[in-house]
Amino acid sequence: MSRPGGSRPRVVVVGAGLAGLRAATLLARRDFEVVVLEARAGVGGRATGEWSAGHWMDAAWPVLGGRDASLARFARELGLGDALLPLRPVQTVLLHDGERRPVDGLGLRGAARIPGLRLWEAPRLLRWRRLMRRHAPLLDPAAPERAASLDYRSLRDHVALYFGRGALDAWITPEIQSAYGDDVGELSRVALLLHAVSRGLGERRPGLPGLPRRPLAELAQTAAERLDVRRATAALRIDEQPAGGFRIETRDAERRRGELACDALIVATGAPIAAQIARPLLTPAERDHFAALRERTAITLAIAVDGIDGGLPQEVRLPRGAASAVASFLIEPGHLGGRSPEGQSQIVALARDGFAERWRDMPDDVVTKNLLGSLEDHVPGLGDRILATHLGRARVPFFRVGHYRLLASFEKVQRDRRALGRRLYWAGDHVGGPGFEAATRSGERAAESVTRDLGADAD
Ligand SMILES: Cc1cc2nc3c(=O)[nH]c(=O)nc-3n(C[C@H](O)[C@H](O)[C@H](O)COP(=O)(O)OP(=O)(O)OC[C@H]3O[C@@H](n4cnc5c(N)ncnc54)[C@H](O)[C@@H]3O)c2cc1C
Repeated sequence: MSRPGGSRPRVVVVGAGLAGLRAATLLARRDFEVVVLEARAGVGGRATGEWSAGHWMDAAWPVLGGRDASLARFARELGLGDALLPLRPVQTVLLHDGERRPVDGLGLRGAARIPGLRLWEAPRLLRWRRLMRRHAPLLDPAAPERAASLDYRSLRDHVALYFGRGALDAWITPEIQSAYGDDVGELSRVALLLHAVSRGLGERRPGLPGLPRRPLAELAQTAAERLDVRRATAALRIDEQPAGGFRIETRDAERRRGELACDALIVATGAPIAAQIARPLLTPAERDHFAALRERTAITLAIAVDGIDGGLPQEVRLPRGAASAVASFLIEPGHLGGRSPEGQSQIVALARDGFAERWRDMPDDVVTKNLLGSLEDHVPGLGDRILATHLGRARVPFFRVGHYRLLASFEKVQRDRRALGRRLYWAGDHVGGPGFEAATRSGERAAESVTRDLGADAD
């Protein structure tokens, strides 16, 4: 993309997580001059982890949805399609009365057979498709704010009303907790409706969950190799230039200050940092928006284990209300060339929201010990087989009731500011939804907007 005179518009992307890297990759391919600023020494944001004892230890819940199309597209475009895909299928198991029971909660027939669902509740599941059809025109995971008018009820109230308590405790909460957390009394029902669309929940052909064959961090590294990424360089403050465009104040690892000018800017960090660095540009409505967003603590514990646990990878879910610090855990037997060596396994435990919040300021070793204690109840003898552990903690957006209405007002302000010529864009999970797929999709959306607006400016 070049302007009269031959110069290319310069776009700066702040944050080299999956959202920022996706946006930068698309724009660089469209011939924009793109610079990515990353505060840390490594790229990948929250999609990072570490190799330990021959295992890739994730810092987040690693199971992906079978319909995660943006992520798959990103991998294929980088030539990593064969390395990461097809996803390694994960079997879903519900822990019921101390027993592991395989379940198929993606389809309605399977959902009706989930232990814990009461006999008289199963026929109520027939309402699912009618309800989804009614809301479908408002449900677009690429534009979650479109569902704002449905955002007035909690997930708990929605599910209890239409499908009953058993469905809430044994089916929906265990299904949703790895993406949105388990605080379903506060979580918006829109989170469930969008999750249902992205996973195909209740449809005849849902997307089967699975694990990438190699660490997702490799996707970030490969993307970064083809871009101008300034590592260990944090954006501190962004100002508008009188003649248009932005000036970004930066600081590198040696604490040297610098600055950078650009025509358009994508801020792809978490919401609190985005609000802080862009503060001089924000309208009062945008400041109120960021102040009203809520976050929750997400904690995962990856454990490298000696010996094999079962054949297929399994996601073991505990019902809502079970007395455990752990909400779900994944057991992934190793395989040749994969994320864990053959003959060994990896377990990733996801903490309950209540536990994560209560223990968020505790030292790593204390949190690890507690999660391991809870996990031992379900994986006897685990303690003697541990090779390494890796605790992941993150503050992630919480999609409580009202979040999608906030997003809709925010989106309207963005349209107005862009019409006035402000070339500032946002990407990341607070605008796109939780997880790697939504982060990647939000990067695509930001890149589309930049291309459209700067293309129009050049005409
Ligand atoms: C332990 C853990 C559990 C998680 N659990 C969940 C979950 O249950 N549900 C869920 O939805 N999501 C969860 N996630 C988050 C999920 O991985 C994210 O949705 C996704 O990675 C977000 O990608 P992103 O690109 O938007 O942001 P990030 O991956 O956070 O990337 C932002 C990047 O910006 C960089 N940056 C920050 N400030 C600056 C600055 N001033 N200048 C330059 N660069 C800067 C950061 O270093 C980072 O690399 C979890 C993550 C972790 C670590």
